[in-house]
Amino acid sequence: MVALLLTAGSLYPLLRANTIRAGKRDTRPYQPRRRILVSVSSVIPLSCAFWWRSTNAYLPCHWEDTKRGRITVPRSIIQDTSQDQASGSPREVLMSTIKSGRVHVISGGYPPGALGGHDMDYARLRLLGLLEEQGLPATVGNDFSDIHRWLPGTQLLITYVAGPFLDDDQNQIVRRWIDDGGHWLGLHGTSGGKATRVGSGRRRRMVKTSHHDTLGGFFLSHPPMRKFRVDVVAPGHPLTKDLPESFETIDEPYMIEVQHPSETQLILTAELGPDDSPPGSGFEYDEDTALQPDGKTRALGFTRNVGEGGVTYIALGHCSPASQSQPAADPNPEDAGGRPAGLRATWESDAYIQLLRNAITWGMV
Ligand SMILES: [Zn+2]
Repeated sequence: MVALLLTAGSLYPLLRANTIRAGKRDTRPYQPRRRILVSVSSVIPLSCAFWWRSTNAYLPCHWEDTKRGRITVPRSIIQDTSQDQASGSPREVLMSTIKSGRVHVISGGYPPGALGGHDMDYARLRLLGLLEEQGLPATVGNDFSDIHRWLPGTQLLITYVAGPFLDDDQNQIVRRWIDDGGHWLGLHGTSGGKATRVGSGRRRRMVKTSHHDTLGGFFLSHPPMRKFRVDVVAPGHPLTKDLPESFETIDEPYMIEVQHPSETQLILTAELGPDDSPPGSGFEYDEDTALQPDGKTRALGFTRNVGEGGVTYIALGHCSPASQSQPAADPNPEDAGGRPAGLRATWESDAYIQLLRNAITWGMV
């Protein structure tokens, strides 16, 4: 507005100068000193307008936001927080992805406060520690319910969740943010979400939603935890920098259905073979669409570009509280790494931490 006023202020003397030159209304004799004065008075406000514009372009969140455009947030996802109420339920959220250097970390289970079988505090601390290493400021959340408040100004979103998922409205916000240049690193249970009961029994089946379309992966189920070899299949990709050709870990062998195969680059796979879950365990599914055509390979890490941003998903990364260790596929503890089944073996491996460091770098470019 100030720039507009300054520009308007500069136009008046210019127009006035034109009328003097054309002699349309000003019948006074030609006055060189008066013309110089008018010219100078035009230049000063015009310069001020340019100065104002250029200065504001580098202020965080303001001018750049309006350049990026906005997205209307449906009232259904506006939370009853004091801030939202004070501002009269904001209908618009700025979706700027300016290079703020900030990372938003979401780590949590479902229902709110529950762990969802994972050591959320451990995962959150490790992720924050990796960000601190690189001097990156972070904000944190426990689910996606207030995502519209934190994404503006966020450059990288990292999620380690077991239960929470983006509903359609929240997905629309995240999708727009990625299109504008945001990067989303989804870890482990991020490919899950809602499960519905099958018939009247105890079996459940995962529900595929727009969340999985954006993430690019959908969790079907997983057989019992085990020790297995992970193959790094994208040598030379920034996400696999300094990773070995393969590494071993103890983790849940996730069955992930890749949503956009033609646009997706696999970075991690494992030859886990067909689902060997004991009868009655795991989740129901119609067809094992996570198994590659060779009948043995499964995708455990992949990335794809979306708009000006991108999404990377890494299925590895189980960590559970000691009180919730699972039965392992390997009956001999030594075969399973000599410790209670898969507490946090992946998080303790150099390869996984290097992969996370690479992913953070990928998201902050
Ligand atoms: Zn897990």
